[in-house]
Amino acid sequence: MSKDIQNKEGVYLSISLKLVESKEYEHDGYGAGSGSIIKEEYSCPCGKGKVFYEKDDIPGYRDKSIYSNCDTCNEKYDFGRGTAVKNNV
Ligand SMILES: [Zn+2]
Repeated sequence: MSKDIQNKEGVYLSISLKLVESKEYEHDGYGAGSGSIIKEEYSCPCGKGKVFYEKDDIPGYRDKSIYSNCDTCNEKYDFGRGTAVKNNV
């Protein structure tokens, strides 16, 4: 699913993040059947903070969010599931 991201010099800008913790919760759902909530925690690229990935996999209610609690990395990177991509390049 991940594709390689390169700048015009051919340098890879996508960084794989280290998975710290992964959890999955059962959820009763919102009337359209049960589902699950996935939460993953990664180390941020500089190592001082964390990157959080959350996915609600519930029928009729699918949502995902990804954010970092590290200001430095928030400024420098865009985050995907388990990846950080340098912005402003
Ligand atoms: Zn950081």
